[in-house]
Amino acid sequence: MSASVSQPPVFLIDGAWSSDGAADWFTLSNPANGQPIARIAVADAAVVDRAVQAARRAFPAWRDFGPYKRADLLRELALIVDERRDGIARAVTREQGKPLDEARGEVSKVARTFEYYAAEAVRVFGQTIPNEDPGFLSLVEKEPIGVAAAIAPWNYPVELIGWKLGGALAAGCTLVVKPSEYSPLSAVALLDCVLAAGFPPGVVNLVQGAGKTGAALVSHPGIDKIAFTGSASVGETIFRTMGGIKSVSLELGGNCPMVVASSADVDAAVKGALRRGFRNMGQICIAVNRIYVHRSLHQRFVQQLVHAAERLTIADGLERPSADLGPMTNADGIAKVERHVADALDRGAALLCGGGPPAGMQQGHFYAPTVFDNCTPDMLVMSEETFGPVLGVCAFDSIDEVIGLANAGPYGLAAYVYARDVAEIFGLTRALCFGSIAVNTVDAGIMNAPYGGRKQSGIGYEHGREGMEGYLAIKHVRLKHGA
Ligand code: NAD
Repeated sequence: MSASVSQPPVFLIDGAWSSDGAADWFTLSNPANGQPIARIAVADAAVVDRAVQAARRAFPAWRDFGPYKRADLLRELALIVDERRDGIARAVTREQGKPLDEARGEVSKVARTFEYYAAEAVRVFGQTIPNEDPGFLSLVEKEPIGVAAAIAPWNYPVELIGWKLGGALAAGCTLVVKPSEYSPLSAVALLDCVLAAGFPPGVVNLVQGAGKTGAALVSHPGIDKIAFTGSASVGETIFRTMGGIKSVSLELGGNCPMVVASSADVDAAVKGALRRGFRNMGQICIAVNRIYVHRSLHQRFVQQLVHAAERLTIADGLERPSADLGPMTNADGIAKVERHVADALDRGAALLCGGGPPAGMQQGHFYAPTVFDNCTPDMLVMSEETFGPVLGVCAFDSIDEVIGLANAGPYGLAAYVYARDVAEIFGLTRALCFGSIAVNTVDAGIMNAPYGGRKQSGIGYEHGREGMEGYLAIKHVRLKHGA
């Protein structure tokens, strides 16, 4: 082990930071330059058990703490996250790679998430139901489910933990959080805010590690609810290995289409494709992967898209905070991009820009924004989630044809439509089988509307009231009052 690499405490259990009981260690490195950042402790089943037991002990008091006091703490948490925004954002950029300005934006959105769920915490309503027999009444009450396991990926390393924290804490659940092994210190920075805000010990706990740690957590009998965001394959594994019946929400991968219909504003569609295709190096679950453009607009769209893609700035996002793009987060991501690019070339797609590292950037996980034209449905870029800065384009002739193309495949996370004709807009939004559809914009998600996938893209919702309801269980109380 290098003496100069720090070993910060990375487990939060019962309100205390430590790396006690670490089963193993790994070295975390900066994707922009390969430099080691820190040595990170890995939690085995025994450490996971300590964290779950802490959350279980904390649960009864947190459940009875009351929604108004929970809301106060969530508001305090939002203030502290805002105060510490730059430090948290630096941790994100250092290990995940997105440029610092973008990371700052992510952290601010987490603070807004906590404010939103502070307001929702006091709006957990039940109902009364009349009974056929006189003198009876049914009360339907909602109660926190219990202890939640929150497992997150690395692409939005604080936001995706924040959504789970907000919903679960507002509902009255306690949690054990496991971040990705590629973004452990962003999670430490965020959860240190939880500690500073004064949440009681054990309400939020943090363990670190990769799949083995995650598997120990989801299969632990003390877990009542699993809130998972990640790949479809790991989501499916969790479904099979969680052990026992548990409430589950799975926010999984996609392979999101954009349809540029004959009535589209081409300039706006190009702007949208650029933002949702390449932002965060395409490492977004709702990234545009494949673009279907009406033949009448196809040439103009492709020319403008390539022109704009070639002008995106790529840099180490700590050195150049306002760069458009940073490095990809890890070598596996680069390898998948290379596989999709090679497959598209083999199958006859036309490479219009990119297709390798940007000129002069051989160090770090950098890759140039890449556009393929004349793509066919059998190509990986058109059928699998690339999770990298690669866009596949093809022309279409009729709305029925493009609906078939867009709906093909196992995923149903998000779809994008550019059109101005009302019949085209509603024809497409009604027929597309996706959890979110954004029309003439690529910002599909807002904090107060539910967000979730269909088909192999998952079950359950985050954001909005639904993002809290997923942490609540219903209880029917039938009362004979005799009046
Ligand atoms: P991943 O599935 O490899 O890992 C996600 C998390 O699961 C990590 O914390 C990982 O350590 C953990 N894990 C791995 N094996 C596990 C197991 N057997 N049991 C429990 N936990 C386990 O995903 P990733 O590479 O970190 O993230 C990229 C994926 O996440 C993409 O597919 C992307 O589309 C998806 N994603 C989805 C959403 C959404 O909201 N739908 C949002 C962001 C990312």
